[in-house]
Amino acid sequence: MMDPACLDAADPLASFREQFHLPEGTIYLDGNSLGPLPKATQERMTEVIDSEWGEGLISSWNAADWINAPRRIGDKIATIIGANHGEVIACDSTSVNIFKALAAALDCNPDRGIILSEGGNFPTDLYMGQGLARLSPRAEMRVVDYDDLESAIDESVAVVLVTQVHYKTGRMRDMAAFTAKAHAAGALVVWDLSHSTGAVPLDLDGAGADFAIGCGYKYLNGGPGAPAFIYAAKRHHAAIEPILSGWFGHRAPFAFTDEYEAAGGIEQFLAGTPPILGLAALECGVDLMLEADMADIRAKSLSLSRLFMERMEPLADRHGFELVSPRKDEERGSQVSYRHEHAYPICQAMIARDVIGDFRAPDIWRCGFTPLYLSHADVARAVDILNDVMESGAWDAPEFHQRNAVT
Ligand SMILES: *Cc1c(COP(=O)(O)O)cnc(C)c1O
Repeated sequence: MMDPACLDAADPLASFREQFHLPEGTIYLDGNSLGPLPKATQERMTEVIDSEWGEGLISSWNAADWINAPRRIGDKIATIIGANHGEVIACDSTSVNIFKALAAALDCNPDRGIILSEGGNFPTDLYMGQGLARLSPRAEMRVVDYDDLESAIDESVAVVLVTQVHYKTGRMRDMAAFTAKAHAAGALVVWDLSHSTGAVPLDLDGAGADFAIGCGYKYLNGGPGAPAFIYAAKRHHAAIEPILSGWFGHRAPFAFTDEYEAAGGIEQFLAGTPPILGLAALECGVDLMLEADMADIRAKSLSLSRLFMERMEPLADRHGFELVSPRKDEERGSQVSYRHEHAYPICQAMIARDVIGDFRAPDIWRCGFTPLYLSHADVARAVDILNDVMESGAWDAPEFHQRNAVT
């Protein structure tokens, strides 16, 4: 049996907890969906609003270096995901960046048209691919089962759109091996790193990755609807003709010319004016993440997840929870999910007891393990509370069956 107190006593990341604003008594197992508020963000936002916007007005584009925020934050994210400076930029939403990355990959693989992806992927990934396929005469979506994705990469496939850590199950793909397989078949890969960035160590450069996108508001703690990011390996930059050819991706935006001319570097993935308030909050989350060692984060994430699964075992047998996440560490991201026929009311009953996980239709209770502010004691207590909620039948109260718009 793992001992939470011993594990917490030896935790090199324990001091990060006080850098977050978290409601007293809450055990937050949903940082994989919306990261909590870093205290530094509160202070920084006041400064950006009062001083940079309030006093500096438009001069802050230069004086406060707003203009370089997307690239500056992109370079910081590059450090977290194992990319080089000039290969990552913070902008738009993950959905929009999927569209841009897929279009760019088609530019780089001009003789092929198939966009291959996996059924059961996060819906927006598939939807954005479908939208691009409607627009591009050459593009066509092909969707196969999760386990068949690798073997479905043939000589017709231009690009594979693949999520590294699955949003429901937490299953994790081997980036280097998968990329090598795709390249051997002449296909490029767009990695969705929504549930990987800030959660697991990444080495995009070492894996020979082509393109990637990821979320700012999950493990990076950038705030609700934070700008996302896009990664493009330098070797591809020259072949890209940006599909969303807005003025911020122009070689000289302030020359105000009539003809679009792509910036060439990673800046060509910008479309319009950067959202400075959102970027300022994102930068605080990224800066905080950069203070922690990614190897420590991974080690603690695995330790928290293992403890959770160990404590859940007797309960799972007695109350019908089925583990849907891989048991093997190397196949699992930073979340653990269980299938249960009453997952929705159980999730709600837990939230009412201040243990915040989430529900993913039709029957998944999903818990994210975020090492910067969760302790082993929190995890043990969460399972104790679940035990109580199940044994007492508290989960079955009518109010917990009421469906909210956001689950
Ligand atoms: C969270 C998530 C997204 C989110 O896309 P948004 O544009 O931010 O809404 C996309 N893809 C995956 C795999 C995700 O987990």
